[in-house]
Amino acid sequence: MKRILPCLVLVLLLGAAASPVSAHKLQVVTTFSILQDLVQQVGGERLEVSSLIPSGMDPHSWEPTPRDARAVANADLIIANGGGFDDWLFGLVGGAAQADALVIVVSEGLDVIEHEDSHGHGHQGDPHFWLNVTNAIYYVEQIAQGLTTISPEDASYFRERADSYRQELADLDRWMIEELARIPEENRVIVAYHNAFSYLAERYGFAVADFLVANPEAEPTPRDLARLVELLRGMSRRAIFTEPQIGTGTRYMQSLAKEVQGEIYTLYSDSFGPEAGSYVEMMKYNTQTLMEALE
Ligand SMILES: [Zn+2]
Repeated sequence: MKRILPCLVLVLLLGAAASPVSAHKLQVVTTFSILQDLVQQVGGERLEVSSLIPSGMDPHSWEPTPRDARAVANADLIIANGGGFDDWLFGLVGGAAQADALVIVVSEGLDVIEHEDSHGHGHQGDPHFWLNVTNAIYYVEQIAQGLTTISPEDASYFRERADSYRQELADLDRWMIEELARIPEENRVIVAYHNAFSYLAERYGFAVADFLVANPEAEPTPRDLARLVELLRGMSRRAIFTEPQIGTGTRYMQSLAKEVQGEIYTLYSDSFGPEAGSYVEMMKYNTQTLMEALE
């Protein structure tokens, strides 16, 4: 009997050693679901990544919850978009984060596209950088550097995954340029609910004719609606783009479409949904929608 005991102890030790590996995965917190997907692509199985704003919700009107404060407090790495898109995060970080948690703002260093605010409040920058795929590639690089900083022993794993995902995104970008080039010049116009598409427009050769609101936190005024009605009446192709995460926006755009006998189409901007569960799927869906609406 005495001889069996050491074997049992060894088995127990092996069993105990297997579980803490998975229990100590890096904890990464992102503000919204599109960043969560990009982080997952780079981090693979070496981390757990969550999004504070659930997929399908409008990020602009997000009010952080006590649950968000707890997630931030337990994170090894915190990733925000920046550009005014998720400023509420910085209040949470100041209040709760671990002293050693790294915070990355992925859009830092990118050129901001500003627009003249139609309400006369001066200039506002568009924070939706990721709708230009080359900016998403920049995000991926920022993410890979951040992950490597907090976990240098996984550097080659992250590098390999980031490189192969960047290749996939570069192919996506090229495909979008080729597809969208088939839309006639005179139809290359986007009329949308909120100011989300200036980077997409710049990269893929569109004009953003107008949008109903700069930021969906504010509802449009009758004057905003009248301005868009007039604009659309002067267009031969009256395509109106709305986004699934903004319920009130969809109602306004539907009444606008009725008024000018236009067609409603869906573009994904800030969140995933039934037809688009990842960043790549979202951009493919948007490309197909633009083709259907404007070719
Ligand atoms: Zn938005």
